[in-house]
Amino acid sequence: MTFTAFLGALDAEIRERADWGDVASYIPELARIDPAQFGIAVALADGTMLTAGDAEQRFSIQSISKVFALACVLGRIGEQIWTRVGREPSGARFDSILLLEREHGRPRNPFINAGAIVTTDEMLAGRTPKDALSEIVGFLRTAAEDDDIHIDKAVAKSEAETGFRNVALANYLMSFGNLRNPPEMTLGTYFHQCAIEMTCVQLARAGRMIASLPDAPRILSAQKIRRLNALMMLCGHYDGSGDFAFRVGLPGKSGVGGGLLMIAPGVASVAIWSPGLNVYGNSKMGTYAAERLVQEMGWSVFG
Ligand code: GLU
Repeated sequence: MTFTAFLGALDAEIRERADWGDVASYIPELARIDPAQFGIAVALADGTMLTAGDAEQRFSIQSISKVFALACVLGRIGEQIWTRVGREPSGARFDSILLLEREHGRPRNPFINAGAIVTTDEMLAGRTPKDALSEIVGFLRTAAEDDDIHIDKAVAKSEAETGFRNVALANYLMSFGNLRNPPEMTLGTYFHQCAIEMTCVQLARAGRMIASLPDAPRILSAQKIRRLNALMMLCGHYDGSGDFAFRVGLPGKSGVGGGLLMIAPGVASVAIWSPGLNVYGNSKMGTYAAERLVQEMGWSVFG
């Protein structure tokens, strides 16, 4: 079977199974989305892009934006970021506040909400929210070589109206002195960053630089690329990170919009979207598709 035929068969199988999971309900604008959707885009080292299903459908990238926000901050202040945020798996839910008290307001990693709020706060150093958001959207446009990437303001507003846990996290970070801007300013920026919408094709293109593919724009040093991959492997799926490493064996980052960016270093950048989620808040069919794809291609970094 050719690679394209495999992706087509996977798409058909997933639609036949119709085991979609539930969409995120705590952000009303995401709760309205039909879970019965699936798309996949694979950018390969030879420059080809293979797709199946709803690969051109825009979706809310949500936490996948955290990888690119971190890339911007690493580019700006480098290793200094680790004084404010750790790089250990949390083993806790994406929006957990539990470990923050024990660890004196230093979030465990930049991909849980608390850590991402700190990263966004750092992006705001010396800039307005508008400038910080332009920087991250600009970074994604450069990485994807596609200017048609935007923020869905309705999703940002929806989350701002109901994101009470994130408000709690930001205030708690502030109480430890680990937030430098007013909580509402950092959170407003964070909600807009999470509300960036992209298609699987755009996201797979943006991921090429993290996969070190030959045709990717050279924006990040080799060391920063290694850092991003290590964090995606260990912390990219919240308390489901171990399960993802076990089942799939590649660095990846999920978002509650049902997106998943997965990196086969030197080989491929893969974006998958299916909005229904599993118990960890990761895409249910997205994770299944990632597992099947990596098995088929033998791409696990564990051999
Ligand atoms: N904007 C979402 C939140 O802060 C992102 C969570 C996610 O995608 O996992 O709750």
